[in-house]
Amino acid sequence: MTEPSIFTRILGGDIPGEIIAETDRLFAIRDIAPQAPVHLLVIPKTEQYRDVTELAAGDPALLAELTAFAKDLAAEHSDGDFRLIFNIGANAGQTVFHVHAHILAGGLTEKSVGA
Ligand code: AMP
Repeated sequence: MTEPSIFTRILGGDIPGEIIAETDRLFAIRDIAPQAPVHLLVIPKTEQYRDVTELAAGDPALLAELTAFAKDLAAEHSDGDFRLIFNIGANAGQTVFHVHAHILAGGLTEKSVGA
């Protein structure tokens, strides 16, 4: 039995974290270490998918829901333009192996990506 992910623990109220929006299958929080004026995380409530490649293969409809939810959040929290970033694997910077998308928005000037 593996430990619940940090995001599952936030969702369950076991550790502090404000859920800023949710649907029946997704929720969003502010990143604790923001890399842009608006830096949100969009997270499936299930932690069965470790990264976006697993999510795309296992539940493509949920990935489509995630992108639509991200679009709505970017419109609500910024001007509607945003970067949607998924880190896949530790060598790419992934630290939480419960699939999540980074929304970066607001005052983005550099072309480089990263979250
Ligand atoms: P990644 O490196 O792509 O796995 O993204 C994990 C993200 O989770 C990082 O950007 C962290 O800053 C963020 N994070 C870790 N712990 C928390 C927390 N308790 N609340 C909000 N964001 C967190």
